[in-house]
Amino acid sequence: MAQIIDGKAVSQAIKDEVKREVQALAAQGTEVTLAVIQVGDDPASTVYVNNKKKACAYTGIRSLEYHLSEYASQQELLALIGELNGREDVNGILVQLPLPAHMDEDAVIGAISPGKDVDGFHPQNVGALCIGRPGFVSCTPAGIIELLKRSGIGIAGRECVMIGRSNIVGKPMALLLLRENGTVTVAHSRTADLKAVARRADILIVATGKAKMITPEYVKPGAAVIDVGMDRDENGRLCGDVDFEAVSGIAGAITPVPGGVGPMTIAMLMKNCLQAAQMQKSGIFHS
Ligand code: NAP
Repeated sequence: MAQIIDGKAVSQAIKDEVKREVQALAAQGTEVTLAVIQVGDDPASTVYVNNKKKACAYTGIRSLEYHLSEYASQQELLALIGELNGREDVNGILVQLPLPAHMDEDAVIGAISPGKDVDGFHPQNVGALCIGRPGFVSCTPAGIIELLKRSGIGIAGRECVMIGRSNIVGKPMALLLLRENGTVTVAHSRTADLKAVARRADILIVATGKAKMITPEYVKPGAAVIDVGMDRDENGRLCGDVDFEAVSGIAGAITPVPGGVGPMTIAMLMKNCLQAAQMQKSGIFHS
């Protein structure tokens, strides 16, 4: 039976570390502040925003909430972002995605000051990651690196296969694994013989959005399997992209869904907010 990688416990440890550092900054007169913008009333987005507010409350980060109607214009949203970019008391800005169809997500993300882009989605931060410069890293892949390290799973010199190449998970994940000296393959829906490619992996990371698609035939015995998926099974229950029951019999280590990668994303968002405040305080603020 595989080692179960406990994302809840690791994320709790990170939130406690952030909380201590937020308190230390507060003692020096600096309050850490995150502005969260939601447009419209998508129920899933409301859940995500509430979870972020809860994590802020736990870590001592002040959260400011801005809720625009789903009929708000893009100009209105850009004006709000512009105002928050200019406010010295706001360290991080997060726009909850997806946005209503009449808005251009790229334009909105591009309007956030890179020094306040705690989601790490701005092209300047993505570019910084690509060329190994400091910047904000997308929270889910950054969280997976922490999970691996804190679970004692080495990356350097190991075969890493990333299935999925989205801008928010697959691509930054591949770059981070490379930064940690992994030997990285990125697979996707056009990969020939995906099972054979996946079976090369010492570390297999899956972000396809296809419920339970990864069965034991995709997994080398003893591999670490990281499941990013948040899907619904045939009974409407939350599950991942990996068939956990079957794969945990062959993997060396595996993340469950829920309780694996999911909690790490918010913990890393809190860490990025702290980093934003520290960078702005020390004058390393690239806008
Ligand atoms: P996405 O933008 O839809 O990308 C999916 C990727 O998987 C694409 O690159 C696609 O290939 C590839 N793919 C799809 N079907 C495949 C198949 N049968 N074989 C091989 N590759 C396949 O998804 P995403 O935003 O990265 O999210 C992926 C999953 O992670 C979703 O379930 C999402 O809910 C979850 N997620 C969880 C968190 C978290 O905090 N836990 C955060 C973000 C996302 P092509 O590029 O060729 O189309």
